[in-house]
Amino acid sequence: RTICTYCGVGCNLEVSTKNGKITSIQAPYEAEANGGHTCLKGRFAFKFYDHPDRITSPLIKRNGEFEEATWDEAYDFIADKLHKHIAESGPDSIAGISSARTPNEENYLMQKFIRAVVGTNNIDCCARVCHSPTALGMQRAFGTGAATNSIEDLDKTDCIIVIGANPTDAHPVTGAKIKQKFMQSVTSIVVDPRKIELAKYATYHLQLRPGTNVALLNMMLYYIIDADAQDHEFIASRTEDFEGFKAEILNLDMDEHERITGVDKNLVREAALAYANANAAMEFHGLGVTEHYQGTFTVQLISDLAMITGNIGKPGCGVNPLRGQNNVQGAADMGAQPHQGAGYMDVTDPSIQHKYNTFYKTDKVPNHIGYKIPEMFNAAIAGDLKALWIIGEDVVQTDPNTNKVMKAMDALDLLVVQELFMTETAKHATVILPGASFLEKDGTFTNGERRIQRVNKVVEPLPGTKADGQIIVEMMRKMGYDQPDYSGAGVLEEVSQIVPFFAGATWEGLGTNGLQWPVKPDGTDTQLLHTEVFKRDNGLGLFTFKDWEESREVEKHGKDYPYIITTNRELEHYNCGAMTRRTGNVDILVEDVLLMCAEDATKNNIEDGDMVCVESPRGKVDIKARVTDQMKPGILSSTFHFPEVMLNIITSDEHDTEAMCPEYKVVSCRIRKSKGKHKAMA
Ligand code: SF4
Repeated sequence: RTICTYCGVGCNLEVSTKNGKITSIQAPYEAEANGGHTCLKGRFAFKFYDHPDRITSPLIKRNGEFEEATWDEAYDFIADKLHKHIAESGPDSIAGISSARTPNEENYLMQKFIRAVVGTNNIDCCARVCHSPTALGMQRAFGTGAATNSIEDLDKTDCIIVIGANPTDAHPVTGAKIKQKFMQSVTSIVVDPRKIELAKYATYHLQLRPGTNVALLNMMLYYIIDADAQDHEFIASRTEDFEGFKAEILNLDMDEHERITGVDKNLVREAALAYANANAAMEFHGLGVTEHYQGTFTVQLISDLAMITGNIGKPGCGVNPLRGQNNVQGAADMGAQPHQGAGYMDVTDPSIQHKYNTFYKTDKVPNHIGYKIPEMFNAAIAGDLKALWIIGEDVVQTDPNTNKVMKAMDALDLLVVQELFMTETAKHATVILPGASFLEKDGTFTNGERRIQRVNKVVEPLPGTKADGQIIVEMMRKMGYDQPDYSGAGVLEEVSQIVPFFAGATWEGLGTNGLQWPVKPDGTDTQLLHTEVFKRDNGLGLFTFKDWEESREVEKHGKDYPYIITTNRELEHYNCGAMTRRTGNVDILVEDVLLMCAEDATKNNIEDGDMVCVESPRGKVDIKARVTDQMKPGILSSTFHFPEVMLNIITSDEHDTEAMCPEYKVVSCRIRKSKGKHKAMA
């Protein structure tokens, strides 16, 4: 029994093996996270684990070519370079990007290596490019940045709002449950620029222009206050700063907001009142909320919406971010971020710095905030960052503005990539360390409802590869730090001593269904957060008003690049596709396509299946057109699962003002019919 490596639903899998090879995967019926269901990724997309493309030896690039090396040669090469840069430029010239695909214990060790062995807070993970605004926005409103409720609460709600998420493709098992509820009696609201599958079943589809979430949520808040449909008792007893917030909201012009969002204000009013008048209303959101210029503020307004209607701290309600990567919640919990260490403790607080140094038996943990991922790229290009160690992230294919990312990779003196395959990022590496897949190691993943679940090794790592945790441990020792050999149970015990909400999490205690954090020292877990008080210092939820601002991308480039392309995901593939493209799923979905409405296709003389040149201020790509009724005029959409297109050549590195999450969802572009084939052009 183990846990799926793809999305944050955290489905339990039962894996059958014969002669050390995996033969099939089933879904256990009694699993609380998925109750006998998986999607086609979890159940069928596992053949990548022993694919001939796996890297099975450490590689060092010499004279532009990768050469096989022993583990000791690779470790010595890396350690020499790190020591040199620490001596010459200081520890802040080194950074790490940890992986939200690897277990908590490996993330914990990676951030420990960077902080306690190297001596810098330059550690981040892919939460930066997905849910960092969720963590920050919810921390500001409620005091903690995790889902407030559990997926089983879908059986206790009578209204569901899905904002900027497409769960039937991106979180399929939860998406299927939401779809069932939509088809039954709950009131259902979808806020999305695209007519996603759930929109077909929704009571209300608010099909807004990308980049206007803040305006639309302010409209909903306006109509709730205007109709006096707020929960006065909850606001008075559980929150602060409501009166100033209310005055700002009532000052807004709804006609102007109708123009901004492109959504009929009467429809918004109906949906807002349906949400406010429900006995229990549950909110879900995804990257269509966070990957925006105003991503953090949008999360704060979603939190306002829950608080103003009293839809928080009770069953069937809450704010429930749908986590993208399987362990993105855990990577942040373990401290793979530059401003908070393991357990979300503030690295700038001298008492916390002392606590970490004492616990790690070192004096190297600094108390200044490290680089976020976009800052790492800028620092590399500026010559300030000399060495970067990336585990299990293909930043060249998945991070925005590919040409800039490649420039940053090539500016480094040392790029260590710990990977399964020769990804687009690995091609730029100085050293490649062959890691292991989730099927080849132990640890825990934490799913989107804070459920810590045991990942059990099913098969031995392929010859020549090692569990990523063991690789980090061996590098720690090579750098002079004493750390025991890796085991999931052993590192979990260490984690439970420093992360307060893991205090009672033990390997045995997690059992087969896991526990939802916080786990008290006596082992009891928590399905529902904020029942009596919020986690903020004064125990109150904080209302915050934010007016809508046009995306910087549109403001700067909208005139010359009049179309907006917004990125999405498909059911069959996952993110950069390095794993799913090496399974049978590639026979089902073979390429990225550009979604556009018939009106835009006709206007540009484009037919379904034609190649289209999409050009933004960063570059251009050729991609096949798919004419569909999912899109509104002027709005396009595509995925970035395939390196043949490299869609991120055109995406923007404009980012959320607060958390620096890139604005993947609003990319100004222009289109024309092209004769090109899938060939990316810089
Ligand atoms: Fe894996 Fe998510 Fe599919 Fe479940 S829904 S099987 S966790 S990809």
